[in-house]
Amino acid sequence: MNFRKSRNLMWIGFAVGILIMALGLGYENEKIIGGFMVVGAIVFFAALIQAFIFYTCPHCRYSLMNVRGSVPEHCPKCGKELKEDR
Ligand SMILES: [Zn+2]
Repeated sequence: MNFRKSRNLMWIGFAVGILIMALGLGYENEKIIGGFMVVGAIVFFAALIQAFIFYTCPHCRYSLMNVRGSVPEHCPKCGKELKEDR
């Protein structure tokens, strides 16, 4: 797992998690809705947690979750270039 994959996985997880929760709203049964909400939330938080673990600088392990916007060219902490491969 490299940081860029982790970032993509985070967004996919957010989208899928929200989609699952949205799908649940189409049902009348509260238990079914609740089930969708739980599964959606698990997917959502799993995506978030893996990002905290893997979306980090490959050089110094600084969490890139602190960086807003897109993946930065250089690590804000150690200043080294952030490259795909690791
Ligand atoms: Zn760094």
